[in-house]
Amino acid sequence: MMYDVVVVGGGPAGLASASESSKLGLRTLLLDENPRLGGILPQCIHPGFGLHCLGEDLTGPEFAHRLIEEVRGSGVEVRTQAHVTSLAMRSDLVKEVTYASPQGTEAVQAKAVIYAAGARERHRFEVGIAGDRVAGIYTAGEAQAMMDLYGVMPGRRVVIVGSGDVGLIMARRFALEGAEVVGVVEMLPYPGGLARNLMILRDFDIPLYLSHKVTEVRGRGRVERVKVVRVNEELRETGEGFWIDCDTLLISAGLVPRVKILRRAGAIMDPATGGPVVNDRLETTLPGVFAAGNSLIINDLVDYAVEQGRTAAKGAEEFVRGNGIPTRRWIRVRRGGYVRFVVPHMLGGDRDFWLYARVSRPVEDALVEVPEIGLRRKVPVLKPSEMLRLRIKSGVEGGRVTLVIR
Ligand SMILES: Cc1cc2nc3c(=O)[nH]c(=O)nc-3n(C[C@H](O)[C@H](O)[C@H](O)COP(=O)(O)OP(=O)(O)OC[C@H]3O[C@@H](n4cnc5c(N)ncnc54)[C@H](O)[C@@H]3O)c2cc1C
Repeated sequence: MMYDVVVVGGGPAGLASASESSKLGLRTLLLDENPRLGGILPQCIHPGFGLHCLGEDLTGPEFAHRLIEEVRGSGVEVRTQAHVTSLAMRSDLVKEVTYASPQGTEAVQAKAVIYAAGARERHRFEVGIAGDRVAGIYTAGEAQAMMDLYGVMPGRRVVIVGSGDVGLIMARRFALEGAEVVGVVEMLPYPGGLARNLMILRDFDIPLYLSHKVTEVRGRGRVERVKVVRVNEELRETGEGFWIDCDTLLISAGLVPRVKILRRAGAIMDPATGGPVVNDRLETTLPGVFAAGNSLIINDLVDYAVEQGRTAAKGAEEFVRGNGIPTRRWIRVRRGGYVRFVVPHMLGGDRDFWLYARVSRPVEDALVEVPEIGLRRKVPVLKPSEMLRLRIKSGVEGGRVTLVIR
């Protein structure tokens, strides 16, 4: 079966790209491994979704519902319980997507693929926590799914690793359910989350240990205590540390784009984002294969994941209708100053697009510049946890542009 577009992943990025590409008149198939659509959203029962793209403050399930309705009304073919196992480039204009479902293994062909498989959470061994392999250690997403999808309380006395928004939201979730959050441990000298989420620590009287690290877990059968050690600016341990008694350790140490299938298919990756190298249509280095959402870059806001899904769909339309994107030359996008990453990596210069970037450390009274096109903007504060998003107008000339933050 030949489709114009196959979308891998039915989270917000995949849902938005599928409905958009169908609206653009492309025959579209959406595949997701879960029995239900929505990606991570159905388990995020807190508000804070859709402020930018809808001008409304919705919960995750409410926001997902809007996107799912859009897909249902758009003529997209949807297959759930369809776990994509591989993507093969038969030629620049024909891709084969193989997936496993309860009916067995199947393969479909497409002119373009939009890859929106989301992200995975970092686990305890990736953040260097040694010790006993006991019950009571969860990633934030696992604990969230237990509580908000299955109604199971993961523990009563909790230590949280990581002060980003996800860790803070889980601190509130546990506190609201009557658990005691005995500490949030952050190895950096500053907290990661948004100011509105940091209020949670004050509201529930939760201690925040900055420049500290959980290094060890002890327990028989279940977590009984964890060791916390101070770290210096190079994040090296200093001193003996102290123990905190608890029955649960929650790891909220960041997300990593899920890119195994893309990498195996031969797409070039950017070590700074963990996702693929893309142009301003969000096309990867595989012709006609696009990426969007958290498998492209980790988005703190769902609005950006949706926006990337729609951008990728427009790129796919251009590819399908034009038998490849007609670009004479690519302009390279480079990083300067405190820029940790910037996406896209290349641009055609012939249409408007969004530039997404993050800083490597907090910068107050920041000056954001793209000198080659005369862009200059002052921003009161930039934090590594928040995405910087800039509109770049068409008509860019030259061999490269540089995003500089001072
Ligand atoms: C705990 C938490 C709280 C958040 N809070 C907010 C908030 O308050 N406000 C806000 O704006 N944003 C928030 N976000 C961010 C927002 O949820 C994400 O940016 C967004 O969900 C990313 O969407 P996505 O489609 O890229 O990925 P996902 O939602 O992860 O969806 C990916 C989908 O791909 C599927 N998939 C993966 N691999 C395969 C495969 N091989 N085959 C088939 N299907 C596959 C998965 O099943 C999943 O359905 C939060 C995120 C988290 C984790």
